[in-house]
Amino acid sequence: ENEDLRLLLLENISQEAVRAFQAQGFTVDHSAKAMSEDELVEKIGQYHAIGIRSKTKITERVIKAATKLLVIGCFCIGTNQVDLNTASKAGIPVFNSPFSNSRSVAELVISEVVGLSRQYFERGYEMRQGIWNKQSKGCWEVRGKTLGIVGYGHIGSQLSVLAEAFGMRVLFYDIINIMPLGQARQVESLTDLLQESDFVTLHVPELPETTNMISQAELAHMKKGAYLINNARGKVVDIPALIEALKSKHLAGAAIDVYPAEPGANGAPFDDSLNVWSTELRQLPNVILTPHIGGSTEEAQRMIGEEVSLALSRYLNYGGSVGAVNFPEVDLRAITADQGHNVRICHVHNNIPGVLRQVNEVLSPYNVEKQYSDSKGDIAYLMADIADVSPQDVNKLRELISRTSANILT
Ligand code: NAD
Repeated sequence: ENEDLRLLLLENISQEAVRAFQAQGFTVDHSAKAMSEDELVEKIGQYHAIGIRSKTKITERVIKAATKLLVIGCFCIGTNQVDLNTASKAGIPVFNSPFSNSRSVAELVISEVVGLSRQYFERGYEMRQGIWNKQSKGCWEVRGKTLGIVGYGHIGSQLSVLAEAFGMRVLFYDIINIMPLGQARQVESLTDLLQESDFVTLHVPELPETTNMISQAELAHMKKGAYLINNARGKVVDIPALIEALKSKHLAGAAIDVYPAEPGANGAPFDDSLNVWSTELRQLPNVILTPHIGGSTEEAQRMIGEEVSLALSRYLNYGGSVGAVNFPEVDLRAITADQGHNVRICHVHNNIPGVLRQVNEVLSPYNVEKQYSDSKGDIAYLMADIADVSPQDVNKLRELISRTSANILT
């Protein structure tokens, strides 16, 4: 029955995703481009699902026009391009892929650890200018050095394993207690980590508590000649304070992939109009600057495609919403085909008292095999598997449930 469901995939979402949806019987329209708000308002009414990357904006106006829309897939990490609040009020879950690029970031960090300690970015830059400058002063092996990881989540823990394979000693600091991998050791405080590490690398989320987490005082706690690496979020480091620590030679180098303000498109300038200290930072030696490429690999793109496609088809086929960013996360084990004519009820409703009682009254003549309900803000979601429902009863059930109060979707 999936051929009744139409999907719109924009911004060049992978052909594998297109083919996977078609194989499940969905009708798929796809385009390499993003759509403007006006175009979306005109077209979205005919679609049950939409897949976008970061350029297509799903605004309140678009969601109001999306009368059939059941689900939104962001084939990327961020979800700022979607009005999440309006989507959840309309009962539309939004899925993304926050962790598909963890390994890619960890590998970039390892390369930066080696790059900073061997200064080969600097030597390579000189070679491009025709300058031969062979030297070993201030260049080190990383074996036996201490890597301090701030934030031991998806990326930090991957990095821990890679660093130990290089013979590094690994310390980490996190606000929660986490089982260390390998020989890594969790330390009590950020100060302990800063004082003991030769390399400090940041892998915390952007939060009010992590804004300027590394500023003048923290840099002063770092060992003389240590290195700082930031592939997390731009606001985590106070860059003017970092510039001072580099100029005074307290730090021997830094690698920065993320910035408080970043250009919106390739080719746009990275200059002082964006961040006032940009020129000063660019002129410092042994500073590796990259344009937010930590997670930018072919592998990560492919995994994002697989993960978000799977989340969309799981929701459309079985109602499972685990991983949704704006919506109650509900799932039940799949119904097996040999259990008679079973039916799965997926009921998204406003989170107000009395709804479950009304729905359960409708279900009471049947054998409810499993049931699970959860709420998030204004929205609640009930999933129930009912045994032995005749095809005629399915329509009756749908009709009765759609008449209960608080419905969003009918
Ligand atoms: P994660 O959520 O898996 O891990 C974050 C860890 O930080 C958690 O263990 C958490 O407990 C810890 N933490 C939170 N607040 C803390 C605090 N105040 N002090 C110490 N620890 C704290 O996240 P992740 O997937 O590992 O991502 C880490 C960061 O990397 C995020 O900021 C993410 O946006 C960024 N990132 C950047 C790129 C890139 O291209 N450069 C790509 C992916 C992710």
